[in-house]
Amino acid sequence: MGNSCAGAGGADGAGDVDQVPAIIGGALALAVGACLSSFAVTAAYRLPRDISLITPGSFCESCQRPVPWWANVPIFAYLALRGRCLMCGAPIAARHLGAELLLALVALYLYVSFPLADAVARLVFVTALVICSLVDYDWRLIPNLVTFAGVPVGFAFAWLAMPEVGWRGSLIGIALGGGFLYVTGFVYQLVRHQEGVGLGDVFLLAMIGAFIGWPGVLFTLFFGALLGSLGGLAVGLFGTPRDAPEPPPAAREFARAPQTAAASGADVRSAAAEPAAAEAAAASAELQAADTERSVSLLMTAVPFGPFLSIAAGVYAVFQPVLTTWYFSR
Ligand SMILES: [Zn+2]
Repeated sequence: MGNSCAGAGGADGAGDVDQVPAIIGGALALAVGACLSSFAVTAAYRLPRDISLITPGSFCESCQRPVPWWANVPIFAYLALRGRCLMCGAPIAARHLGAELLLALVALYLYVSFPLADAVARLVFVTALVICSLVDYDWRLIPNLVTFAGVPVGFAFAWLAMPEVGWRGSLIGIALGGGFLYVTGFVYQLVRHQEGVGLGDVFLLAMIGAFIGWPGVLFTLFFGALLGSLGGLAVGLFGTPRDAPEPPPAAREFARAPQTAAASGADVRSAAAEPAAAEAAAASAELQAADTERSVSLLMTAVPFGPFLSIAAGVYAVFQPVLTTWYFSR
């Protein structure tokens, strides 16, 4: 399980956690990562539905009955219950187990690869990315609440805990991440008369820039675009493109993720609650109504782009030293 972690990390980064026996520290890291993922999956479920993150305690998504404390223990509870609700037998989404395993391993790898504060910063970032990805996948929206908070939090972490990013790299990253996609979206709209980049992605990339700096933004754009193209291709070849989902109850909390002509109806409704966004949405809907080139937007519509950006950014955050070494050794 930990084989990928022992090799690349090494003791050089362990710093201030040398006093903690490695096995206890590693086990703690696994546990913290698994618990954070439970939080992330819960947040991704509750934020769009406007349910408080604190109350009620965890409940079954099918029968709404409260879950006993032990059934919240990450990974083990899922395995013990064989992925089914204790009370009603409804299947528990496999994303619970997937996210728990993923974040547990990420936490362990970060723990052995970075000084503690740096590892915590990167784990917080990856957790935010998981939330954004799940919400974007489900609703084609990216939660403002996470990305807005992520910009100052990311800047503070980069400045105080992440020497390989630093405050200057973080500031340039925010400007580059937010600015680049905003300008791209603007130009795209001028040329194609339809919305190519949603504001949700602008804020997501600004948060990414805050946490991993401008080199991280460049990596995210290139690698994310590559993954997105492959994903779009796969959907085009093997899958059926989904229609955009209905806007969630808490649509006010969200910025728009990339949406094209197919989604314009839902778009206007979700944005109408926000006076500032309503004007822009109305304008873009007007443009989209005049536009008949729907086939062009198939890939963008079929595949939410946020998860691909998030995967790319997460890879960079976790493997930054390895990637940097590899890049400069060529
Ligand atoms: Zn149930």
